[in-house]
Amino acid sequence: MEEFFNKTRIYFGSGSLSHLLAYQSQRCLVVADPFLVQSGLIGRVTEQLQEFEIFDQVVPDPPLELVVTGIQALLAYRPQVMIAVGGGSAIDAAKAILQFGRQTQELKGQSLTFAAIPTTSGTGSEVTSFAVITDPKKGVKYPLVDAAMRPDVAILDPQLVTSVPAVIAADTGMDVLTHGLEAYVSTKATPFTDALALQAIRDVFLYLPLSVQAKAEPALDDAKAQPRARMHYASCMAGLAFDAASLGLNHAIAHNIGGKFHVPHGRANAILLPHVVRFNAGLSDYAQREFSPAARKYAELAEMLGFGGVSVRTSVRNLLRQIDRLQQQIQMPQRFRDCGIEETQYQAAAEAVATGTLSDSCIATNPRIADRRAVAEILKQSY
Ligand code: NAD
Repeated sequence: MEEFFNKTRIYFGSGSLSHLLAYQSQRCLVVADPFLVQSGLIGRVTEQLQEFEIFDQVVPDPPLELVVTGIQALLAYRPQVMIAVGGGSAIDAAKAILQFGRQTQELKGQSLTFAAIPTTSGTGSEVTSFAVITDPKKGVKYPLVDAAMRPDVAILDPQLVTSVPAVIAADTGMDVLTHGLEAYVSTKATPFTDALALQAIRDVFLYLPLSVQAKAEPALDDAKAQPRARMHYASCMAGLAFDAASLGLNHAIAHNIGGKFHVPHGRANAILLPHVVRFNAGLSDYAQREFSPAARKYAELAEMLGFGGVSVRTSVRNLLRQIDRLQQQIQMPQRFRDCGIEETQYQAAAEAVATGTLSDSCIATNPRIADRRAVAEILKQSY
């Protein structure tokens, strides 16, 4: 027997922040990215509330220390509602704070509503049971997984993503594509996760270039915000897909590159993506008659997206070509050497990155088993 379940209630579209009015009579702890506080964007959230406190110490790739400080803020304020506002870093930090905070004597057994409001369109964290926390000393990112971390409510207001600069729109958009593709070929994929992944992947090809080109300004009118809105929903759909189907080798490597070199998460995924697709597809010579399950799924996907070929081989190649074209359209760096990482440092870290990759939980659902040699080869190609 199989199951598809996601408990998060999703409010989306212009005006969806008004759902927060439901919390007016409650004490709310708002965990926010400092950018939102400095830019004043947080006002869109707090103007709906009456009694609130803001915890704004979130940093990209949230470290363990931040979680500890956050738990102290949680215990000091004792909110009835926790509201995470920001990119994946803010939402993940809030998830970990709540997850560990709930296990303290003070909060055990207390009910607390958790709402997540993404302000980037990439991680899908607003609907997932994942939280990625970094140990900066070891240079490792740990994907924590627990169904209890899924937010009760997600609010997708496209007006909150109109200020995202092009480069962040590009990075986070490639995170959506990677989530969709990894979920689609995952060993845990089902027709339900495929449907969500397919829609998200389709929307990335259609809307990401337009979304990156959209001028970053605080309030685009609704029509101009459409590509950004579609990417915002695509991010959430990909999140629903991978929350159930999980991810794969791409994320396992990206977590370790990100932990060591702080390459933005979506960019690390984007650089690795063509190499991982090639590895998973496992195309060999032209005489090949049997194709791997992943190759067949990539080919099926290419067909559904309108760029299928005459055979599995040509369809996979077309998919790779389209990924390459998309990356060029959004000016994504294609190699880690273009991300300011020194070759000597990269090589010195390769062994540890491979070790971390092989023990990352995301690798368990990759469609093709990857050993140390395969990871080393992908690392070499992507530099
Ligand atoms: P992020 O949260 O680190 O934010 C990136 C930058 O965007 C920050 O500088 C932030 O201040 C800025 N920003 C956020 N909203 C903005 C806005 N509206 N306008 C302008 N700037 C804005 O980046 P992210 O890609 O959203 O999240 C990455 C993190 O999420 C990584 O740690 C990654 O490992 C994790 N992640 C989690 C999941 C999950 O399911 N929990 C999935 C994928 C990735």
